[in-house]
Amino acid sequence: MPETQLQRARAGEITAAMERVAERENRRPETVRKQVATGQAVIPANHGHDSLDPMIIGREFSTKVNANIGNSDTTSGIEGELQKLHTAVHYGADTVMDLSTGDNLDRIRTANIEHSPVPVGTVPIYEAVKRAKNPADITRELLLEIIEKQATQGVDYMTIHAGVLMEHLPLTDNRKTGIVSRGGSILAQWIEENGMQNPLYTEFEEICSIFAEHDVTFSLGDGLRPGCLADASDEAQFAELETLGELTRTARDHGVQVMVEGPDHVPLDQIVDNVERQQEVCDGAPFYVLGPLVTDVAPGYDHITSAIGATEAARAGAAMLCYVTPKEHLGLPDKADVRDGLAAYRIAAHAADVANDHPGARDWDDALSEARYEFDWQRQFDLALDPERAQNAHDQTLPGDNYKDARFCSMCGVEFCSMRIDQDARTTDGEMTTISDETDLDSSPAADVNLPPVGVHDTSRLPDEIEIDGVTFTPEESHADD
Ligand code: SF4
Repeated sequence: MPETQLQRARAGEITAAMERVAERENRRPETVRKQVATGQAVIPANHGHDSLDPMIIGREFSTKVNANIGNSDTTSGIEGELQKLHTAVHYGADTVMDLSTGDNLDRIRTANIEHSPVPVGTVPIYEAVKRAKNPADITRELLLEIIEKQATQGVDYMTIHAGVLMEHLPLTDNRKTGIVSRGGSILAQWIEENGMQNPLYTEFEEICSIFAEHDVTFSLGDGLRPGCLADASDEAQFAELETLGELTRTARDHGVQVMVEGPDHVPLDQIVDNVERQQEVCDGAPFYVLGPLVTDVAPGYDHITSAIGATEAARAGAAMLCYVTPKEHLGLPDKADVRDGLAAYRIAAHAADVANDHPGARDWDDALSEARYEFDWQRQFDLALDPERAQNAHDQTLPGDNYKDARFCSMCGVEFCSMRIDQDARTTDGEMTTISDETDLDSSPAADVNLPPVGVHDTSRLPDEIEIDGVTFTPEESHADD
């Protein structure tokens, strides 16, 4: 049986995936191996995911961003899902989670895995509900069958809500918003109606065996996460966290890689404590947080409310941020929402990487700032986190080619452009003509980290054309109107 990245790292081996990750992160392969061996970082890489370009999730490495895609009963088919996958990778998702709950689950999942250069995650309990119809009718056998099937299909990581225990449920009785995790609510219903312990908990060692065989990484779900500020950091949330710590150790004993999911709605002043507590309870396992949203009052703007919390969480040590789109709480995101959510989260991740002095992170900012000061508009667009958005915004008012080297834009106008005035003043002064040497981005560690034109978010592995049922379409076209 092929071994997991964790088992091989413990044995002292530097795998091809570790080599590739080291290259992408500008770190030594031995550093990567040690981080994986101790469980401080994970490389989600199912043995069967052939199109994967390996990446790493851990607090010592650049902060990663996950995008959720997937259909529901009411929207989106296979073509739409592959378009979303393409959009997510194009705009910088480091992993995607297929949260489909509608039709064609197997076909959508296998198509996503076949076409995805980034790790694909799933939540198997969703398929169990679809198959059983009623959550209470899910059996242990059905759960294990679905988990094994998805592992065989090549899923790189799975959210397993094994920390929701029967004894935790009364702790949620006085909450404002009860249990808001889909997986958590399904399992709570199962426990209540069957009068038995969570089957994902009782069968956890069996699941470990399946994961070890395929090298699927656990993403231990936080089924009792708070759904509003009032419920944050409560007894239910932290009781589940203790169980997740226990399960982290069990999974590692089986040689299985683990990361741990975290909340969701948390006041800004509680975020650091939440991250530090998870790191302590779960022995440094990578923390994968949803947001957190730092206020409940802005539906329609929750990519912003949550990106504020995500920045704080990443600054404190969270390793991966699950994006939130403007549609959070309101509806299934479309392509425009995916783009907006990813932009917000890549900003959060990069801001934290700069603040945490991640190797090379600041070089990107410096290079863009120099282009800005030099009125090198094309370079400024090219270096922008979302080049198309930046150029479109500029060209709305000054579209002509002659404005691409203009010493102003329409924001202040030519007369009041402060950078032009500053430069002119320095030129006449005679001593202050040079502000800085130009950053050599090509030789910087930033060259391979986070930069859309050259680095991690490499879309070249995505197919130019995708064929479904004899019909060919070109995903790239879909960005033209974004
Ligand atoms: S006009 Fe204002 S916003 Fe535009 S380049 Fe000059 S200083 Fe910057």
